Amino acid sequence: MHGVVEYDISHIKGPLANTFLMLINALFFNVKLIGLNDVYPRDYSQQLLKEEETVFDFIIVGGGAAGCAAAKEITETNIWTVLLIEAGDYPSPSTEVPGLFQAHPGSREDWQFWIEQDKRACQGMVNQRCMFTKGKVLGGTSAINNLRYSRGLPDNYDRNNCDEWSSTVTSAIFDKLESYIGSEELQFHFGTSGEVHLQLSNFTGHPKELLYKAYKDTGYLPMPRRKYIGLTDHTLTIRNGERYNMAKAFLTPIKDRPNLFFTKNTMVTGVVCTEPVDKRAVGVNVSIDGNEFFIRARKEVILTAGPINNAKLLLASGIGPANYLKERKIPLVADLAGVGKNLQFHLVVPMYVAIDPCENCPKDYYKELDFIADISEYILTRRGNLSGIGIGEFAAYILTRASGSSFLT
Ligand SMILES: Cc1cc2nc3c(=O)[nH]c(=O)nc-3n(C[C@H](O)[C@H](O)[C@H](O)COP(=O)(O)OP(=O)(O)OC[C@H]3O[C@@H](n4cnc5c(N)ncnc54)[C@H](O)[C@@H]3O)c2cc1C
Repeated sequence: MHGVVEYDISHIKGPLANTFLMLINALFFNVKLIGLNDVYPRDYSQQLLKEEETVFDFIIVGGGAAGCAAAKEITETNIWTVLLIEAGDYPSPSTEVPGLFQAHPGSREDWQFWIEQDKRACQGMVNQRCMFTKGKVLGGTSAINNLRYSRGLPDNYDRNNCDEWSSTVTSAIFDKLESYIGSEELQFHFGTSGEVHLQLSNFTGHPKELLYKAYKDTGYLPMPRRKYIGLTDHTLTIRNGERYNMAKAFLTPIKDRPNLFFTKNTMVTGVVCTEPVDKRAVGVNVSIDGNEFFIRARKEVILTAGPINNAKLLLASGIGPANYLKERKIPLVADLAGVGKNLQFHLVVPMYVAIDPCENCPKDYYKELDFIADISEYILTRRGNLSGIGIGEFAAYILTRASGSSFLT
């Protein structure tokens, strides 16, 4: 059954009615505790509208993972003021529920980009176009993504021969960033005192067990520590059953710093440069509630608006391939051939399989009544199926053509 489910509860009386009321009260009490905006910095947008001239040392465009981390770092020293600008709003309560992760692509917390038709990608989709989800909300895509956390393999970093990004350097950074609570038997050692909170969910659903069994039958075993081939449970960016988006990670601990200013529902429409003199970025044009104005940066404008909007903003500001800008009559500030090119993305190939119902499982994952029980369990205890991402927590790292690489041994 789909849509709103209606129940006739008029016949419930006596102890059952009391239990029902207790449940309702508990639900309401707990509902209040999820998705509170006061864990985030206060919104400064209305003050910005009132000020005649606005100037900050640093302007950060985009409150996603990168923007929140940059805001935390730069405000460490209180001699600089930082304005963090986000086009979206505070994350809605439903983004906090890990099990609802699939509900947000296409919502108002997504930019709702669609890729253009081409002859290779998305051929099986309606109109051969795929949605290209990007978070439009404080926390950015980290507030609506699939919550899985894993470090890249050492080879991913070492193969570029770039000392600053070697696996030795990056693993020290990961150690510092992570705050993992849980068993020690995972493939990676995780840091335990950083900002990014990590846990395994308590989901133990039937489909995942089946997958473990199927892979074991083909010879794959649980992944030994630091071996990188085998079966494992994904660590998630969650804490106590709630999503830990990157605004919570990086902004919540510093939300009251007097040199941090945050403005939501604020669209940056362009970067303004001192052109043609020295081509320095001196500020941004923004739009709030239909009011357009300029905000000046004394030192730097930092673009952390994500892969699509970073390029879009640069192009709209005259920074990009000269010919492309000329065709669109955008005055040239800097001829940079690579802007808007070379986007790389990983494919997701969903595969659907039919499985037998589980005879001996305490719950059947697919029955609607179980889903209702899951909702109550989640609201009351932050446990159960909604506290994780279901089958997506299972990961099999399998041998491919790269199997000759040294990182496997
Ligand atoms: C469906 C999906 C699932 C994913 N699952 C995982 C996963 O399980 N694990 C994982 O590690 N990664 C996952 N990712 C990737 C990961 O979430 C992103 O790589 C990461 O969040 C990107 O962070 P970012 O700060 O670079 O950019 P974004 O998160 O895109 O942040 C950019 C921010 O800038 C704001 N912005 C953009 N333009 C403007 C403007 N003009 N003015 C003002 N603000 C603006 C946006 O609203 C946004 O908040 C997933 C991505 C998607 C799409």
